[in-house]
Amino acid sequence: MVKIVQKDDPVLRKIAKEVPIDEIGSKKIQKIIQDMQTALDSCDDGVAIAAPQIGIPLRIFMVSPKAFLKETEVLTNIEVKKLKHPVFINPKILKLSSKTAKMDEGCLSVRGIFGKVRRSEKATIEAYDETGKKFTRGASGLLAEIFQHEIEHLEGILFIDSAKELYQILNDDEGGNK
Ligand code: ZN
Repeated sequence: MVKIVQKDDPVLRKIAKEVPIDEIGSKKIQKIIQDMQTALDSCDDGVAIAAPQIGIPLRIFMVSPKAFLKETEVLTNIEVKKLKHPVFINPKILKLSSKTAKMDEGCLSVRGIFGKVRRSEKATIEAYDETGKKFTRGASGLLAEIFQHEIEHLEGILFIDSAKELYQILNDDEGGNK
């Protein structure tokens, strides 16, 4: 079990440190990536996770294959585990669209609370993958929202800092937590 820390934990308010590129292949960083996947896959409603959410103040986030499914598509947990979980190390936003939309958000570290956050509809980021290769990726919709939400985690920001119309769900099984 890898524990996902909750909103009052000070690690979530730290500015996470960059991962030295030559350390990406190290046992230490590879173990962190593995732990992030274990934590993310343990949440049926999780679509992404940032390293500070498992208590590690480093600039890494991961997206679940669930974020790429069509609405009608359902995978079992075993199937999800086998699919690639894209990893973003030292991510930097290159471009955000000026067009924004109010998006429904939740967070694995703010259990049970949802709200609306205004986000750019499109985002392009640059990052290193788990092998240390640099890449650029553009996204729209959910993935663009994830990029913005996760990079805020690395800056010590939580979605509840800017969310409007917050509401609580006691039986928290709604999808789309980050
Ligand atoms: Zn989150």
